[in-house]
This record gives sequence, structure tokens and C-alpha cells, in this order.
Amino acid sequence: MKYFNYAAGPSALFPEVVDQIKQELCNWQNTHSSVFEVSHRGAEFMAFAQNMEKTFRELLGIPEDYAVLFLQGGGRGAFDAVPLNLPLKHKRALYLTSGHWSRQPALEAKKYLEVKIAELVDQNFKPTKLDWTEETKDCDYVHFTANETIEGIENFTPPKVSPGVMVVADMSSDILSRPINVSDYDVIYAGAQKNIGCSGVTIYIVKKSLLGNAAPYCPTILNWDVYYKSDSLFNTPATFSWYTCGLTFNHLKEKFGNLSNLEKLNIRKAEKLYNYIDSEDFYTNKVDPSIRSRMNVSFTTPSEELDAKFVQEAKEAGLSGLKGHKVFGGLRASTYNALPEEAVDALIDFMKSFATKYR
Ligand code: PMP
Repeated sequence: MKYFNYAAGPSALFPEVVDQIKQELCNWQNTHSSVFEVSHRGAEFMAFAQNMEKTFRELLGIPEDYAVLFLQGGGRGAFDAVPLNLPLKHKRALYLTSGHWSRQPALEAKKYLEVKIAELVDQNFKPTKLDWTEETKDCDYVHFTANETIEGIENFTPPKVSPGVMVVADMSSDILSRPINVSDYDVIYAGAQKNIGCSGVTIYIVKKSLLGNAAPYCPTILNWDVYYKSDSLFNTPATFSWYTCGLTFNHLKEKFGNLSNLEKLNIRKAEKLYNYIDSEDFYTNKVDPSIRSRMNVSFTTPSEELDAKFVQEAKEAGLSGLKGHKVFGGLRASTYNALPEEAVDALIDFMKSFATKYR
């Protein structure tokens, strides 16, 4: 039997990456130690880290005037780090909400500044608008969540804002899934544990001109400038997590060359699954097609009981991680970069037989 893992994060790594970890586990780069037993300041690890950043920059096309930082604290740490690090003239920000993970940073930011909230996606899972020029006139920055991991909503385009207003994006669950124009953003952040490597590292892409503005009460552990000046080695990093990220970046470069090729595959995978869901009355996905996530496909069967049966029977058939998040319910298939197309085919086959059995 073949096993596939559709978990939302931590989630599946590329099998090639897992194989390399296995091979190198007891003797990494001739150190006769595993990678998590060597010093983060040793020559081997420092060289690995430099290469990791270089490859990440190449993949996303990150311009020189942006810093790439590797911190801890996850996405939730970033909810604080953003208002604590950005220069705030008005002490006001607009948080665009489209689901659970865009509402959380707004709650956190209220501790530091005035937060205005507006819906980017309405209650019928339809996009509202892209032009937020008027609403951002008196704001320092706008925050939005590029991919709502729980509901399965992807906001592909950054919002249009009043001149001088900074654009901050949480890309925790869709970073590296498609090319982006980094210059459209001032800050991008993403936890590694969904589309990159294993949990423990949070990547920030920050316009360099914004560094050095942290509030005096910003904990040093979240201070971007401190991390920039120390090559992200201010404190002991999550070395194993960095290692999995580095291996994944190398693998993406070798296997796909660039993110446009990878995006084509991601579009194909998502379209297959949504087309099947739309063709079958038994399953429902309520998200407007223009903002359906390519990374997290949410759906339901006709009842909660059947949803629970689906999760159980799918697991027995080798397909795991399909239970929806507790705040949203239903089912969810995460189709991140590392999930092969054959896993989407296997899921559709299973969905077909489940629908026939319980219709
Ligand atoms: N943002 C998004 C879009 C997420 O999906 C998550 C986690 N599921 C978070 C933030 C929070 O990340 P963490 O658990 O790393 O704090």
C-alpha cells in the first residue's frame, strides 16, 4: 500500500529530502556527528547556512535591498515582531481579515497600536476588493494573510495601499509555491513547517531600510536588526530545522529550476481536486473559485458523521492528515509543494469510492 500525508503542518517533506537526512544522519559532512550535534558557529554549519540563504534568495528572486532573517517563535512570534519592529508614525495599522489566521495577528497587534480591521473576504467566501487606498491613508502598514491554511483561501495579490504605507504578508502556508514580486511587499514572514522544512524556524524577508526601528521594549529575541547584524545567529538557532530548509531549497532548485515550473504543478494538482469536488454533489467547497487555495483544499461530505468516517477510512487506505482544523471542521487536504501529483490522484480515487459507498 502507498501512504500519503495531507497534513497542514507540520507536513510532508519531499521524500528525496527525507532520504538525504537518513543518509547523512550519523555523519554529516564528514563531521562524524549528526547535523544537530555540531556547533552552529562551526565552519560546516556556517557554510551550509550561507548557502541556504543564497538558494532561498535565488528561488524567490529576493532583491539586494531586502534582508533575509531566520528567527524562532513561529508565525505567532511574527504577530508580535511586526508591530514591534516597524517604524510607526501614526501608531495605526489596517489588518485585512479573510479567516482564522488573519484574525489572530490583529488581536496580538492591539497590544502595541491602534488596529483597524476590514474584511478582505466576506462571509460567503468571496473577495471584497483589492484597493485599500482610502482606508490606509492614516495607517503605518497593512497586514494580510496570503493563504488561510484553515479555510483554504488564497489571497494571491497584495492589497493596493496609500503611498508610503508598508505592506506586510503572512506567507506561512504558501511561500515558495509560486513566484512573487518581493518588491511589492515590505515584510514577508513564514513559519517553515508547512511548505519548507520542519518546525522551529521562521523566515522573514524585510526591506533593509526598515531595520533599526524596533520599539525600545521589543524583546531582543524578536529584534530584526539584531538578527540582521548577526547573520541570524544571535541565539542558538533551531539547527535541524535550518538543515531541513536548506535541503528543501536545494531540492527545489534541482528538481524544478524555478518557481514558475513548480507553480504549474501546483495549479494542476489544485485544479484536479477542485474540479472533482465541483463535479460531485456529495462533496462541497464553498470558497469562491478566484480565491481557492492551491495549498489547502477544504471540503465537506453531507454530514459531520460522514466527515469523521471519511477521515477514519482514508487513514486505513493509507491517506492521513485529512481532518479539518477544529475551528472550521470538515475535511482538508493540504497539497503543499512536497505532495506529489499521484497523492492527489489517490485522494480523488478514494473520494470516488467513498461517495459511491455512502451516497
Ligand atoms: N499563520 C498561518 C497562515 C498559519 O497557518 C499558522 C499555523 N498554522 C500560523 C500563522 C501560526 O504559526 P505557528 O504555529 O508557527 O506560530
